[in-house]
Amino acid sequence: MKIAVMKETFEGETRVPLIPPTVDKLVKLGAEVEFEAGLGATCRYEDADYESVGAKVNNDRKDLLQTADIVLRLRKPPVEEVELMKKGCIHVSYLDPFNELELVEKMKDCSISCVSLEMLPRSTVAQKMDVLSSQANLGGYMAVIIGTEQLDKILPMMTTPAGTIKPARVFIIGVGVAGLQAIATARRLGARVEAFDTRPVVEEQVKSLGAKFVKIDLGETGQTKDGYAKELTPEQVQKQKEGMAKACAQADIVITTAQLFGRPAPRIVDRAMIAQMQPGSVIVDMAVETGGNVEGSEVGKIVEIDGVKVVGLANLPGLVPLTASQMYSSNLGNFIDHFWNKEEKIFNLDLEDELIKGSLITHNGELFSEMYKSIMKK
Ligand code: NAD
Repeated sequence: MKIAVMKETFEGETRVPLIPPTVDKLVKLGAEVEFEAGLGATCRYEDADYESVGAKVNNDRKDLLQTADIVLRLRKPPVEEVELMKKGCIHVSYLDPFNELELVEKMKDCSISCVSLEMLPRSTVAQKMDVLSSQANLGGYMAVIIGTEQLDKILPMMTTPAGTIKPARVFIIGVGVAGLQAIATARRLGARVEAFDTRPVVEEQVKSLGAKFVKIDLGETGQTKDGYAKELTPEQVQKQKEGMAKACAQADIVITTAQLFGRPAPRIVDRAMIAQMQPGSVIVDMAVETGGNVEGSEVGKIVEIDGVKVVGLANLPGLVPLTASQMYSSNLGNFIDHFWNKEEKIFNLDLEDELIKGSLITHNGELFSEMYKSIMKK
């Protein structure tokens, strides 16, 4: 089976979908791996590094797409490239399927078996291929590093002959994978950390990392079977804002990571809350690319609102491309390995498997994932 690995075309993307150690693993499984010339350049991998583990370089992007049985990439494909692929080709990448309706339609019409890695169920068996977790983890780390860099204070307490410096206060809103890593990173740097999430189950995790959980009574909140937060009512959002106002006002750095699966991110920090914050403090809006948690944050920019720096930088994992690529590549390799039939040396697209049921968006000219179809109907 021929696996093609495409070079990323999205402007500014520094991450690489597959790095040589994963290619080595796929070649050893018996796959024929062909890659686009220059694939690993942003992470300092030369074409020769891929060739040395048994992959074949191809300079012709069109030919690569036309001849592959499986296409692997990081970001969603440009829509005009879909019709180049063979009917029945398996395409695996991030897809953003809730926002890319034209792309999904095209995948369906061209009979591509299109896997959206974001749609993998968050089950134990899927952990090794969970790109959302691996990249969110790095995003949470980078949010603290950037927030710290923008701050004109240090994070740890320091007792010196020149006096005692109080530790900085960091408030994390949203405690999924990114939020937990942000708490851990801020704690390691010596900050005093508070956190809040609408899912009360995370309180224990927050405490176990040495942070304080801010309690706000929102009534019934809950989570979906995959552990995703449910959307709050407007009254609950108002209560949340009131409950968080004090923690925001006292914080030197606020990091927001709140997301809703398949929906725009909730808007939870408004201008009035920003106005209550101390001048010089910093907000990092990690949800800026999905609509933003913070009123006034802008994608790709650091803006100043009432003396507060609001950081809206996109693609935080892309700021550490080597680590991000190592993790993404490993996730992708594990996905292929999990479904690889080692005797016949083919990818077994098992339509009865729970992971495939969740993440296969189009197949055989139809929409496939029931979860996707049900969310799109709402
Ligand atoms: P996410 O990126 O979807 O959301 C980030 C956080 O924002 C979540 O904790 C969510 O509860 C929170 N949030 C939503 N609305 C909010 C609001 N108004 N205010 C404050 N917080 C708000 O989350 P994620 O990191 O992708 O994790 C989703 C779920 O998957 C979690 O339950 C996580 O524990 C679970 N998970 C499981 C596994 C596994 O077992 N394989 C792996 C990773 C994640």
